[in-house]
Amino acid sequence: MPFTLQPSYDDRPRLQDLVVRLRAYLADELIPYEREHGITAETKLDRATLEHVWKRSAELGFYGISLPRELGGKGLSFYELCALKEELTASGAALSHSVLGDMGGPLRVGAIVKHATEEQRERYLMPVVRGERACCFSITEEDAGSDVRRMTTTATPDGDAFVLNGKKVFSSAAPFADFAIVVARMNGTEEVYSAFLVDLDTPGCRVLDGEVPMSGQQMEGDLVFEDCRIPAANLLGEVGQGLRIGIGRITLNRLLHCPSLIGAARRAWDLSLEYATNRVVFGQPLLAHQAIHHKIAEMATEIYAARAMVMTTAAKADRGDNVSVEANMCKLFTSEASFRVADQAVQIHGKAGLTRGHEVEQIFRSLRMFRIVTGTTEIHKNAIAKGLI
Ligand SMILES: Cc1cc2nc3c(=O)[nH]c(=O)nc-3n(C[C@H](O)[C@H](O)[C@H](O)COP(=O)(O)OP(=O)(O)OC[C@H]3O[C@@H](n4cnc5c(N)ncnc54)[C@H](O)[C@@H]3O)c2cc1C
Repeated sequence: MPFTLQPSYDDRPRLQDLVVRLRAYLADELIPYEREHGITAETKLDRATLEHVWKRSAELGFYGISLPRELGGKGLSFYELCALKEELTASGAALSHSVLGDMGGPLRVGAIVKHATEEQRERYLMPVVRGERACCFSITEEDAGSDVRRMTTTATPDGDAFVLNGKKVFSSAAPFADFAIVVARMNGTEEVYSAFLVDLDTPGCRVLDGEVPMSGQQMEGDLVFEDCRIPAANLLGEVGQGLRIGIGRITLNRLLHCPSLIGAARRAWDLSLEYATNRVVFGQPLLAHQAIHHKIAEMATEIYAARAMVMTTAAKADRGDNVSVEANMCKLFTSEASFRVADQAVQIHGKAGLTRGHEVEQIFRSLRMFRIVTGTTEIHKNAIAKGLI
């Protein structure tokens, strides 16, 4: 089989079938729906639009597909999940983040299920799996990002409750979420952190519109807690496990973000090839120039290298290996490589690629963020070195 940037997974019939069906849903339904409703990556999304996508994706069996069978999923392997996630962003669909449940959905809660009590599962996690409720994850604060231990949001035990005070920023999906998984410092301690399930309509909790990041996506929110009483039953895991729950999820998230970046780079590559084929300069298509061939070749090589790393690591994670070093390597390499691909794509597109709202320009801005989001390049390097030395 000759090399192609669009994998066919011939050796994995179940995955091949899922990929074919997912591509058809994205191309034949979701993208036309977005066009009909004028939805772009920068549209401020309302709950009704998102629920439409959650429900339809659930009907087709995609929403929550990665969860274990007992939670209503298909128990996908990490390898299969990575393959599907790459297809989502490679399609260019603006709502692709809501098909498997990345944004506020099952992919947000999947990794914390094992810490939840039976009651928490029924009240919080299962409604997310069914597309009835949405959640966000809140650990970052204004003065606590990479160094999360600097957080100042506190939880104070008070009878059969905990009282939260403080402010979280940049919580993705907060504007349309029903509850948050919040990590807070136990009041009066130096280094004891706990995680809580917090209904966002609890008295003393306010959700503010967050800053709009350079991608232009309007999906971030800030959470303000002022004497916000949370029932003790909403403690996730045990007192003191908050960072382990939060950071355990982040490690997995680092790996699972990679295929989304690869898909976006693939989309930039597709658009570049199409543009270079049709754009005429000096009497011939742009693609006739060898300098453009080199760019196309370099971009494809970066995508292939990133995918090879990510899929190898995903297969290792499926075997139950500890992949914390490799996951950081994948996120480090993939975020940098996919941004280089986006940069080349802008170059090939000339002024069109610099024009506000052009798809390549939006991909460039989005991919720039992932050298910071879910762990910065420098923090990945620290983690890799720490794991090796
Ligand atoms: C679009 C978006 C969505 C987000 N979603 C969420 C979310 O859902 N939930 C959530 O809790 N957070 C979220 N975040 C926050 C995100 O995880 C943080 O921005 C990230 O962890 C970095 O923290 P910081 O921005 O405070 O940078 P800082 O930690 O202040 O770092 C600034 C710079 O210093 C460098 N640096 C820091 N420490 C070291 C070191 N030890 N060695 C070398 N260099 C270092 C960093 O690499 C970086 O270059 C989101 C952010 C964005 C932009």
